Amino acid sequence: MGEADTTAAPDRRLRSLDPATGNLVAELPLHAPAEVGEAVHRARRAAEYWSELPWQERRRALLRWAAHLVRDADALCALVHAENGKPADDAYLELALALGHIRWAARHAGRAVAARRVAPGTLMANFQARVERRPLGVVGVIGPWNYPVNTPIGSIAYALAAGNTVVFKPSEHTPAVGRFCVEAFTAANPGLPVGVLGAVFGEGGTGAALVASAVDLIAFTGSAATGRKVMASAAERLTPVLLELGGKDPVIVAADADVESAAEAVAWGAMSNAGQTCIGVERVYVERSVAGRFHAALRDELRDIRAGGAYGPMTVPEQVDVVRRHLVGALEAGGTALVGGPDALRPPYIDPIVLVDVPESHPAMQEETFGPLVVVRTVDDVEQAVQLANGTRFGLGATVFSRRHGLAIARRLRCGTVSVNAMLAYAAIPALPFGGMGDSGFGRIHGLEGLHAFTRTQALARRRFPIPGMTLPTFRRGPGTMRLLRAALNRLHGHAR
Ligand code: NAD
Repeated sequence: MGEADTTAAPDRRLRSLDPATGNLVAELPLHAPAEVGEAVHRARRAAEYWSELPWQERRRALLRWAAHLVRDADALCALVHAENGKPADDAYLELALALGHIRWAARHAGRAVAARRVAPGTLMANFQARVERRPLGVVGVIGPWNYPVNTPIGSIAYALAAGNTVVFKPSEHTPAVGRFCVEAFTAANPGLPVGVLGAVFGEGGTGAALVASAVDLIAFTGSAATGRKVMASAAERLTPVLLELGGKDPVIVAADADVESAAEAVAWGAMSNAGQTCIGVERVYVERSVAGRFHAALRDELRDIRAGGAYGPMTVPEQVDVVRRHLVGALEAGGTALVGGPDALRPPYIDPIVLVDVPESHPAMQEETFGPLVVVRTVDDVEQAVQLANGTRFGLGATVFSRRHGLAIARRLRCGTVSVNAMLAYAAIPALPFGGMGDSGFGRIHGLEGLHAFTRTQALARRRFPIPGMTLPTFRRGPGTMRLLRAALNRLHGHAR
């Protein structure tokens, strides 16, 4: 059991259900604000020990965690399948990503936190100047249900590797998966003090209590609507926040693309995990000269793909309503269905839906659908594709298919991360920083930037020896010093070279 269990009020329970059957999967404690405060307090105490460990010790602890998760992979994947609904093989793919993050963070934290000497400048030549990075203290991690292993671990591993302790609140829809991951860390590291990685369970109220608690940073992953609340509440204590929010990710298929491979990638990127992927494909812009071929190839790709087989049910019932609203509204607004249609909705399952000719201003083109529904639009040229791709409030990920101009097109996209000629490739490269802009949030997790995000920078200037007559910040400064300063400034700045 996670250490947080012992502090739960006995009469308050959190129940998670299998989205396919409605059966009870797990019953956990539901933590009240006071219990969240206690978990943060335990993490604070543990931080005194954990932050002082040499980073190699933390690396070992993290690698032991990864080894434990690999050994128990089948049990973990079965739990992910039960709580989230995705096929066990997809859960295993998700675990692969998470393990990549643990390993990368563990192995690179030493370099990321290493002190750096910087030049003190001519006027301060008698000083040594250093930039050092220290852990923040206690990090609160709040996670969503769609990737209940990889998403939180993509923050937790980096926060721990950088020397912080963590209090993790998993989604109320996947709490047992969250508990499993935390217990695996404890089991892999029985010698560590309680509270290095702890968990609190509950709904939004428990998350809100964590945001309002004495944590030093909140790493939040979830919807833009909740992200706004998190940021507003964190402002009370000026607690910094990292916000990983939703997306409306576009794909651009240029005239010189490998059209069949683009269709294969779009089919998977839009439908896998029942479309419940923050960086999943929601919009496709195809150049006119290849649009017909792309439509045909996409139809072929999806011909035998069904919910309940290739991918699972919608994890939360409200998500079906969003898909229905976007589908019905888009058809009323003049869109047509290339694949699927209203019959595709058979809750909790939704079969693949591809729409074309939906007006750009329609919610189906502007709001996150977060379901197996994708809209394909024909464009005149790449210029128009880029403009439309940049036309929503979101800016998380994007994909470009073009044999010759992929990177050039990618650089023009207003988003945090782009994959060229492949789907979601950046998500499988732990060294690449991840995060968005606009309604997709801000801050970066993963990679070196992700490690830095969980540290505070301290600047140190040490006088090595005095230079007689050249001390500037003193009441003893005389006219001679000012003459020298004027001469020095003329030499240093009196030219434009
Ligand atoms: P959500 O915003 O409903 O919930 C996320 C978490 O926040 C849950 O643990 C929830 O209990 C908690 N929460 C709810 N109210 C809160 C409050 N007032 N204060 C603090 N915490 C609170 O999101 P969700 O439905 O669980 O997840 C789906 C969303 O997450 C989608 O928009 C998806 O795009 C996004 N997402 C983003 C990324 C990313 O890395 N950018 C990754 C995965 C999912």
